[in-house]
Amino acid sequence: MSTILIIEDEARIAGFIAKGLKAAGFTSHATASGVEGATLAVHGNFDMVILDVGLPDIDGFEVLERIRGQGVSVPVIMLTARSSVEDRVAGLEGGADDYMPKPFSFEELLARIRLRLRAENPQGSQSATQLSHNGLVLDFRTRKAQVDGEWVDLSAREFTLAETFLRNPGQVLSREQLLSNVWGFDFDPGSNVVDVYVRYLRGKLGKERFETVRGMGYRLV
Ligand code: CA
Repeated sequence: MSTILIIEDEARIAGFIAKGLKAAGFTSHATASGVEGATLAVHGNFDMVILDVGLPDIDGFEVLERIRGQGVSVPVIMLTARSSVEDRVAGLEGGADDYMPKPFSFEELLARIRLRLRAENPQGSQSATQLSHNGLVLDFRTRKAQVDGEWVDLSAREFTLAETFLRNPGQVLSREQLLSNVWGFDFDPGSNVVDVYVRYLRGKLGKERFETVRGMGYRLV
C-alpha cells in the first residue's frame, strides 16, 4: 500500500485529500508545516508528496528545494493557484513531478497520483489494476467495467463513483461522502448529481447492485 505525505496548512483541503486517499485505498499523513514536511519527506519513507505552495513557515518551493537538495527523488505533486503560471513553472523547474491547480476535484488529483505511482513502480502496479466485487470488475488500465464477463464503457465520473463503491462494499455511503470523493469540495452540497450518476451506474452495471438506503445514501450490494 502506498503512503502519501500531504503538506498543506489549510485543514479543510488537507482533510478533503486525506479522506479521498483513504477511500481510494491509500494511507496518508498530513502536516501544516513546511519545515516538518521537508524533514518527513526526506526521512519518512513516503511514496509520494502532495505539496502546497502557500505554507505558514517556509513556502512549497523552499520545501521542494530541501527535499531535492538531500538527493531524495520521491515524486512531488504541487498544489498551485489556478491562475499562476509562474508557480507551475517554478515548481516544475524546482524538481516537482507534476502540479495540480486549485481548486480541483479529488478525481483529478487521484488520476495524477496514480499516473505518478505507476511511472515510479511499473511492476508494483500489476496487482492494483483491477478491483472486483460480486461479478463486477473495474479495470484501471482501460477505465472500463466488466459485468458478468461483458465490458462496459464508463465516463470518468462514473468510473470514480463505481470505484468508490467497490472500495467500500456493503457500506452505506452518504451523498456528501460521494460528492466530496468524486466531485470535490467545490461542489454544491444541495446538488442531486449523485442520484443522477447512481442512476447511470444502475443502467450500465445492474439496477440491483446499488441499493438506496433511505435517508442515508447508497450501498453496493
Ligand atoms: Ca496553503
